[in-house]
Amino acid sequence: MNVLTFMLTILSMNNANRYINKSILGIFAHPDDETSSAGCTFTKFAQMGASVNVITATRGELGTLGTGDLSVSREELPAVRESELTQVLSLFGANPPILLDYKDQEVESQKMEVISEKLRNHINHIEPDVVITFGPQGISRHPDHIAIHRCALDAFNAYAQGINKKVSLLYVAIPELAAKEFDLDIDGPETQPNVFVPTQEYIDVKIKALRTYQSQEDAQEFAEWLENSSDYYETFKIVGVEEGTVITFEQLLEDC
Ligand SMILES: [Zn+2]
Repeated sequence: MNVLTFMLTILSMNNANRYINKSILGIFAHPDDETSSAGCTFTKFAQMGASVNVITATRGELGTLGTGDLSVSREELPAVRESELTQVLSLFGANPPILLDYKDQEVESQKMEVISEKLRNHINHIEPDVVITFGPQGISRHPDHIAIHRCALDAFNAYAQGINKKVSLLYVAIPELAAKEFDLDIDGPETQPNVFVPTQEYIDVKIKALRTYQSQEDAQEFAEWLENSSDYYETFKIVGVEEGTVITFEQLLEDC
């Protein structure tokens, strides 16, 4: 090993351990929400040692029944989507999925306090430094996304009050112009990101993850869009900081 290779090895080892004691938790409604929202972010920080977990409320039972050569029955779909989610999280270097076992389109009709309590139990066990979830409009205004936002917010607030470390809550956010391009009917915090994660190094993983969701048309369409896009960031709104402040994701993981 020459000196340069040695130095690079040490550097990459340091990077691989940089966030070894840090934990990131995503809370979403359906398999594939995590990939569209934060696939590169999860991959990046898992590679730097952070423990990444994703809680998913449903198995997306009402999704599309296959794309390309894949055709699945409605009965098979939940197991297919769970398997896709498991493969994707492993691709990111995240832990296996945590499923809440609700049914697609039925999250909203459940007792919110019961969902919040389940989330609280997982959060207390995981002790995340950063939680990523949907904002109040759920990006697509899907009722499951909005219900998950409310319950995650509740659970996060209870957790933040009782823990003696810096913890941050991030909403998936899309700049106004991009939201228009995707025909999303959102405004407010979800169109005002203040955390921008450059994705260039990790975009191939995100595209591969979206392609892994072979049962889902939306995921394939987004993969195709990303394959043709040159300037793409994953963007989030950190709640509770002064207007106009831009923060790096790394700052959220640094001890103050
Ligand atoms: Zn969804």
